[in-house]
Amino acid sequence: MNFSIVVPIYNEEDSIQELHRALAAALDPVDTDYEIILVDDGSTDGSFSALQTIAANDGRVKIIRLRRNFGQTAAMSAGFDAASGSVIIPMDGDLQNDPADIPRLISKIDEGFDVVSGWRNDRKDTFLTRKIPSMLANLLISRLTGVHLHDYGCTLKAYRREVLDGINLYGEMHRFVPALASQVGAKVTELPVNHRPRLHGVSKYGISRTLRVILDLMTVKFLLTYSTKPIQLFGKWGVYTLLAGLGSGAMTVYMKVFEHFSMNRNPLLILTAFLLFMGIQFIVLGLLGELNARTYYEAQGKPIYVIRDRINLG
Ligand code: UDP
Ligand code: MG
Repeated sequence: MNFSIVVPIYNEEDSIQELHRALAAALDPVDTDYEIILVDDGSTDGSFSALQTIAANDGRVKIIRLRRNFGQTAAMSAGFDAASGSVIIPMDGDLQNDPADIPRLISKIDEGFDVVSGWRNDRKDTFLTRKIPSMLANLLISRLTGVHLHDYGCTLKAYRREVLDGINLYGEMHRFVPALASQVGAKVTELPVNHRPRLHGVSKYGISRTLRVILDLMTVKFLLTYSTKPIQLFGKWGVYTLLAGLGSGAMTVYMKVFEHFSMNRNPLLILTAFLLFMGIQFIVLGLLGELNARTYYEAQGKPIYVIRDRINLG
């Protein structure tokens, strides 16, 4: 089995050499048929020349340099697209992930899993701004996606390549790959991995990432549940809202007829108009969504199902 290590690099000049040394030390005993794809995500320090030096001395090291800083997810995507291994293993370039864990991830894949997700069970990051928000986000992601992992944010994971082939990443979505993969039937598991404090350079993220993760989670939840049937979500809310509007309208009429309460002085009239209007909006949104879903799936020739095996079908 050959594998590809994919590492996004953004201003990590002081870690690169050590990273390469540690990767080689961890991987050479397992199998020398691997590649390391280092993606320079528009670094402004000496990262690129450090990468060039490594690539000049080791043919298994491949470098991609993006034109500007596109973000970690995009950098990883670039690496995935270029990877040729049958197992693809992303990890951070700041030495917080430990290359020594990679052989264990690979043996999990050998056991038959499609996705093995690293779990930093002893995470070395600041408590208040990183660990607490991440704990909450993990709980929320687990609850909403139905894929139960302890640590979605760990970059160190292992994927069978077929799993990644059908997945396009946007925004900050690399952490949702296990959830997206399980939607297409992948077998997902997790494995505790080592985590170390950052020794060189600075973290590229702070507390503000929490909001971005929550917003992406909304998108993923929507895609997982309703991407092939948006009217089921919007139509449902549309009908509820219309019914509430009709109820509030009936109440206004009732109060007029039986309690002689003037309709135009009754705030329920405004609520009625508002709810009826919203209900129609929801339904129309659902119909537009249906139209979009057809464009999305048909333009790409994407089926709405995923086949595992075919027998006697040629
Ligand atoms: N990274 C990147 N592009 C970015 C931000 C980060 O390629 O815009 C890389 C970074 O160099 C590192 C990995 O993504 O290899 C994780 O970033 P960081 O260590 O800052 O995140 P943290 O570990 O603090 O969550
Ligand atoms: Mg880090």
